[in-house]
Amino acid sequence: MFFEMSNVTKSFGGLVANKDISVEIAEGEIVGLIGPNGAGKSTMFKTVTGFHIPDSGSISFGGKDITKYEPNKICQVGISCTFQKSQLFSALTLEESVLVGAYCRHKRKSQALPLAHRMIEFVGLGGKEEVKISKLNMFERKKAELAAALATEPKLLLLDELFAGLVPTEVELMLELVKKINEEFGTALFIVEHVLRVIMGICTKVYVLEYGQLIAVGTPEEVTSSEVVIKAYLGD
Ligand code: ADP
Ligand code: MG
Repeated sequence: MFFEMSNVTKSFGGLVANKDISVEIAEGEIVGLIGPNGAGKSTMFKTVTGFHIPDSGSISFGGKDITKYEPNKICQVGISCTFQKSQLFSALTLEESVLVGAYCRHKRKSQALPLAHRMIEFVGLGGKEEVKISKLNMFERKKAELAAALATEPKLLLLDELFAGLVPTEVELMLELVKKINEEFGTALFIVEHVLRVIMGICTKVYVLEYGQLIAVGTPEEVTSSEVVIKAYLGD
């Protein structure tokens, strides 16, 4: 399997944030992850990207065991993430921010810069290279996050609530952009999202997390009509 988490558990003190999680993603596939607040979705992404080491279980990517890799090594093997809490420094310019990503692939600025510029263009922020992150609006900032992640040239990209806080017209534009990433670069996507329109529109498979455990997996139609899922969302 291209990407595989096997029986991953991660606790914080007495709190089991992820319990016995197993996930499979094929090359180029678009997979969703949904679940109520506090279910453990962001924790899963931080474990995949090397910011947490799991208590038990394993993670493999392209046939390699990456369970204990540090974040920079995760980025080098081809996994990148846009985080729920912005990782961009407001004092940096857009170009500087995206360059940070591009340096994951290239040591020399002469090579990293064209890659950064390509990704800034790709997300539709061409012309704003010198603008400080603090001066970008919410939508632009989200696109900047995306450009920085894309500049690491990921084969698997994790998106943690990228659509949160966007108005409906922006959601549609972002959805087109995310589809284009998958189509043009063949990037597999693993998407945490509350905006169900996004999950329904592009995912072929969806995992549902509740209290740290996966309670369902299937097509978007299957999971949204599943009784356990409806209960988890609406209570009983
Ligand atoms: P979600 O993204 O699904 O809303 P999180 O993964 O952010 O959920 O959080 C899952 C649970 O783990 C929550 O109860 C949260 O408070 C807890 N948690 C997350 N990160 C930490 C941490 N670094 N230290 C302690 N508890 C954490
Ligand atoms: Mg979260």
